Amino acid sequence: MPTSFTGGCACGAIRYECNAEPIVMFNCHCRDCQRLSGGPYTAVAYMPAKAVKITKGTPCYYDTPSAALGHNKRGFCPDCGSRLFGGITDEGHGITASSLDDPGLFHPQFDIFTSDAQAWDHMDPKLPKFEKYRPSGS
Ligand SMILES: [Zn+2]
Ligand SMILES: [Zn+2]
Repeated sequence: MPTSFTGGCACGAIRYECNAEPIVMFNCHCRDCQRLSGGPYTAVAYMPAKAVKITKGTPCYYDTPSAALGHNKRGFCPDCGSRLFGGITDEGHGITASSLDDPGLFHPQFDIFTSDAQAWDHMDPKLPKFEKYRPSGS
C-alpha cells in the first residue's frame, strides 16, 4: 500500500486523501456493515486519523452502537449515499476500500464478525477469522 492515495464517493461531491500507510486492513462482516454497505461485508483500510484529509465536500455521519468504541461513527455522501468512512475516533479513521480511486491497493489481513456473515458471503479461507472483534494484541 502506498503512503499517499485518494478516494471519494460515486457522485464526486466528497473527495479525500490519505498520507500514511493503513494501520490495518480487514473485512467486517457485521450486520451493520451489511446494511450500510448494501453488500455482504465492508472492506476497511483503517488509517491514523491525522493522515485522513477531506479535500472536497462535507460528509454526513451516522453512529451505530459498537461494543468496542461505544458508538461507531460512519461517514457517507449526503448527495449519492456512498459509504466512505467508519470507526472514526480521535486516533483512527476507517476508509471503505470500495471508495478508493484504486481499490486494488486494498489487501485484507483478516475477517471480523464472521458470526454475522451470510451463507452467500464467500470469504478467503487463507485469512485469519474472528467471530467478533480481533482480540487486542493479536
Ligand atoms: Zn456523492
Ligand atoms: Zn462491521
